[in-house]
Amino acid sequence: MGDAPGTPHDSRRDGPGRRRYKIPHPKDAKILGSSYSPEGARMPDVLQIPAPTPLTSFTEDEILFRDNIRQFAEQKVRPLVKEMDDKGVFDKDLIHQFFQLGLMGIEVPEQYGGAGGRFFEAIVAVEELSRIDASAGVIVDVQNTLVNNALLRWTTEDQKKRYLPRMVADLCGAYALSEAGSGSDAFALQTKAELKGSDYVLNGRKLWITNGKEAGVFILFATVDPAAGYKGITAFIIEKEFPGFTVGKKEDKLGIRASSTCELILEDCRVPKSNVLGEVGKGYKIAIETLNEGRIGIGAQMAGVARGAWEYAAKYAQERKQFGKSIADFQGIQFQIAQMATEIEAARLMVYNAARMKDASIPFVKEAAMTKLFCSQVAERVTSLAIEIYGGYGFTKDYPVEKYWRDSKIGKIYEGTSNMQLATIAKLVMNGK
Ligand SMILES: Cc1cc2nc3c(=O)[nH]c(=O)nc-3n(C[C@H](O)[C@H](O)[C@H](O)COP(=O)(O)OP(=O)(O)OC[C@H]3O[C@@H](n4cnc5c(N)ncnc54)[C@H](O)[C@@H]3O)c2cc1C
Repeated sequence: MGDAPGTPHDSRRDGPGRRRYKIPHPKDAKILGSSYSPEGARMPDVLQIPAPTPLTSFTEDEILFRDNIRQFAEQKVRPLVKEMDDKGVFDKDLIHQFFQLGLMGIEVPEQYGGAGGRFFEAIVAVEELSRIDASAGVIVDVQNTLVNNALLRWTTEDQKKRYLPRMVADLCGAYALSEAGSGSDAFALQTKAELKGSDYVLNGRKLWITNGKEAGVFILFATVDPAAGYKGITAFIIEKEFPGFTVGKKEDKLGIRASSTCELILEDCRVPKSNVLGEVGKGYKIAIETLNEGRIGIGAQMAGVARGAWEYAAKYAQERKQFGKSIADFQGIQFQIAQMATEIEAARLMVYNAARMKDASIPFVKEAAMTKLFCSQVAERVTSLAIEIYGGYGFTKDYPVEKYWRDSKIGKIYEGTSNMQLATIAKLVMNGK
């Protein structure tokens, strides 16, 4: 763990414009006083090590990055949110701008044209975009936390050279695991892959695939041997133009309406052997490990959704007058606003902690599951209360809060339902982890 990240204020520059975070090794700590142990060994009394910094502390680079996205989301995304939601279509030019801003390849190393950033930055991007629009958040989330993550971890050097520069420049990605009959029980998938000469031939259907309409490349899971159970599952890199691959029906949804959710159809789809991702039969491992990271992203999306709705509600409460004063003057409303703010704070801390753990290479599976579970609960509660603070107006489409509530609902469903997160957490905590 040569350059394991630590707290943000421990950072030192080690490249142009970049900071790496280093945990000070105990041997670097300055001994201020000393005493003798009973055994006679000289023991330090006080170690002068940098004080731990709050989870909400950002490095200078992180602040700059966050503020740029915040400004972009306010200026470029917010004006389009209502129309995109009404039409159920994401603005193509916005996706183009995501690429231009470097938001679609945050962790891709500089040698492949990326920003060489950390997972934490991807999480901040998802939170900031979702504060304005959860559909914008999930496009960037899937690209970074699932697709790029899988490509960065499991590809050969040849595959890296073929795909990573495009993921940064203009290639949108999707992650295709679920099927009509296999959601929570994801490894019961039925899509088959048969080796014929130098190609695998894939047959089957995928359902619910985010970015389906926009994606040019798909990380898709199929089984090479149904009898082998999960050990037959293999991940493939599939390009939209591969023969036998079609994007099917787009779902008409309750929330994140501008994010496309599509069926994928594979009819004798020919995929070169060189497009197997990782090892044959190890797709289950790729799926589990990428989704563990992805869940922190969904936590960030939900934290952003909650914050966006809270900001509207807090402002409205000060503007709306009843009984001759603003409703924010009533303690009942003040307490609701305070409760919402407290829950959002807790949700963000969980997101930031899980993301920093991931960047520090500390096991984070439990924290990721807890983050997704809790943030989606907070988002649903906060957005629902925001509607109540708006009263009848909040129940109409003329005001922005009903959309936040609709968008919050998906947090409890995709990348593992709340019950599946609870199952993971229960297994870990009951085993003392
Ligand atoms: C908008 C949207 C976008 C999506 N994007 C993607 C994507 O990009 N890629 C992808 O692969 N998938 C995607 N999905 C699919 C998503 O991951 C699944 O919908 C989800 O995993 C749940 O599966 P299911 O819908 O089949 O529900 P089911 O698995 O049928 O679950 C139904 C209910 O049963 C409960 N349940 C099931 N098993 C258990 C159990 N063992 N114990 C307790 N309760 C249980 C669940 O918690 C849930 O409440 C998306 C879904 C949606 C709606």
